[in-house]
Amino acid sequence: MLTGTEMMHKYHNLGTAENVVVLNEIKALPFRNLQQTCDPAAVEISGENFAEKTLLRNAACAGCPVGCIHLGFVREKFMEPNQYLYRQVSYDHEPIFAAGCMLAVTDPFAALDIMEEADKVGLDIMSAGVALAWATEASQKGMISKAETIVPLRFGDADAYQQAMWHLARGENEFYRLLASGTLRAAERFGGKDFACVLGQEMAGYATGEVFFVSQALGLRHSHLDTGGYSFDQKHTEKDAAKAVEFLAEDERSRCFLTSMVSCLFARGVYTESRLAECLSAVGYNGLADNIRHVSERIRCERWRLRMATGYDSDRVDIPKRFSEVVTWKGPLDWDYLSEVKKQYGRRIRAFTAEADRDQEKQNEPEKRGTLE
Ligand code: SF4
Repeated sequence: MLTGTEMMHKYHNLGTAENVVVLNEIKALPFRNLQQTCDPAAVEISGENFAEKTLLRNAACAGCPVGCIHLGFVREKFMEPNQYLYRQVSYDHEPIFAAGCMLAVTDPFAALDIMEEADKVGLDIMSAGVALAWATEASQKGMISKAETIVPLRFGDADAYQQAMWHLARGENEFYRLLASGTLRAAERFGGKDFACVLGQEMAGYATGEVFFVSQALGLRHSHLDTGGYSFDQKHTEKDAAKAVEFLAEDERSRCFLTSMVSCLFARGVYTESRLAECLSAVGYNGLADNIRHVSERIRCERWRLRMATGYDSDRVDIPKRFSEVVTWKGPLDWDYLSEVKKQYGRRIRAFTAEADRDQEKQNEPEKRGTLE
């Protein structure tokens, strides 16, 4: 199924960069620090344009026959005439979002240059790109100046962003040290929390709506990989908070099991639970194969119990005002619906933790009895 059907073609062909045009068309592509959700210039940094102009080759994780990793090139001229050095930079939807549209950089080679600088200095491009997008808007609004940013930041100025990556990584001054601790830390000191695109951590490249914003803000790792809230937004027009929360809970459960099996999440359509059960039975894990639902629910609850024990409280997670200003193909974001999904998901997370506590108590019971006897 991985190689003989079209199920994985998207990932091999254009890769997740295919999402750029799709999201732009439905007004769900964060652009210019999420001041917009679409822009005609997005076509310049589309998966199609990256493939046409910059793609050098595909690569794959060890043993994977899909090969979804796309390596673009950037070219550097030597002193000698017509002598070039080519450097390889991998790209994907998220790096294109963070180094491209979020910063209004719409030249694919310039976006690759920014991604490469982030790689060189060891920064996560998503967090770094979103942080610099906030810093650019804060500069525009006069909340910070060159005294803070060292290099003037302007949307679309790729050279400035390349330099800023180094300042950010080195923590060159108080501003960059705070920004490196998270966009909200810098916003607490300099103002601009309203337009900090932070959902627990710096946002991922989807502005699909209420369910995605809640899923990343409250999600276990604040990652778009914890649940597919973005796909729920795209497939559902009704505003049913209970249904949305049920989807998030169930999707998270299945992802817990899949990742415990060390499968790639891109292949989740291939590795369904019945197929995973077949795989497990084939190597003698019949008990596990028969109990996937129970085991995966247990993993989900244990993860949340651990998260709670580290101080997590869903009620303390704020979703900044900028997200309430988003307009997608469905129209303006519905803050009441978002608040209801957030409230109900938070309640569900607390229920997972309570369930894990009860399981733990049950497990401890024989031990307790043994001690008393
Ligand atoms: S394992 Fe997943 S991420 Fe790695 S090459 Fe295969 S499809 Fe891509």
